[in-house]
Amino acid sequence: MPTALITHKAFTGHDMHPSHPESPARLESIWRALEAPVFSALTRTDAPEAEIGVISLAHPAQHVEGVFGNMPLEGLTSFDADTAASIGTREAVLRGVGAVTSAVDLVMSGQVQNAFCAVRPPGHHAEPDQVMGFCFFNNVAIGAHYARSHFGAERVAVIDFDVHHGNGTQAMFWNEPDLFFGSSHQFPFYPGTGAQNETGQGNIFNAPLSAGSGSQTFREAYEQRILPALEGFAPDLILVSAGFDAHRDDPLGQLALSEDDYHWVTQGLAGIAEKCCDGRMVSVLEGGYNLDALATSVAAHVEALMEHSG
Ligand SMILES: [Zn+2]
Repeated sequence: MPTALITHKAFTGHDMHPSHPESPARLESIWRALEAPVFSALTRTDAPEAEIGVISLAHPAQHVEGVFGNMPLEGLTSFDADTAASIGTREAVLRGVGAVTSAVDLVMSGQVQNAFCAVRPPGHHAEPDQVMGFCFFNNVAIGAHYARSHFGAERVAVIDFDVHHGNGTQAMFWNEPDLFFGSSHQFPFYPGTGAQNETGQGNIFNAPLSAGSGSQTFREAYEQRILPALEGFAPDLILVSAGFDAHRDDPLGQLALSEDDYHWVTQGLAGIAEKCCDGRMVSVLEGGYNLDALATSVAAHVEALMEHSG
């Protein structure tokens, strides 16, 4: 079975400011990288617009309505110090959620082995009732709930290797012992959460990494902490919050990963997916702000997904 790539041109219509690091150029850079011949075997799918109601799987309906009610008809609307909506944001947000739910459809129904969703805006900082940190709605948390409600998945895991802690995902999973959250991230750092003693119901596994940490520390965190816990949890589906801003060249983070580390961690996750859940994985883009490092890192990540399919 192939690997799916799910994306859409409308993701470049979400445009906060020419100098904002979470820029449309990020996706253009990824698309160029994924045009290389090695990626010709990808099953390419346009991300559909999700029904607004699907977002309420992870967010209160009143909050969802409020966010869409504040989307601008012209100019920008600010939602927090770092996050604004433009005219194209509504469609991008709906297609971002739609990318994840259609990836879950394809993977859970056995049409593809695994999938990468190249989407904007990202999602893992979105709290249940708050837009935050470039994120409107929590794509992976919606995907986890969708896999449970639409496919009967009992146990769903999210692994987050973005340089920032996925505070929103952690908050949504905190009281849900059948949902697993494992995260490596720079700490202390934005958004402030992600200490090792934040464990929820024993279903949250944080691996905080000090600024300057590189490949060895990152791999030890996965080998010793996150991967064993994930295998013990025995998920029916693994979702990945795939942020690439822990790369050494990223302007926002101070970790020092390379493309090889993204290939390595993806292989490790795919290996556990093969043991636990017939290889079912859905990966969703989060951060990554050096356009060249983002492109090469995504390529390494998607190559590893492809090596575990087919
Ligand atoms: Zn990030």
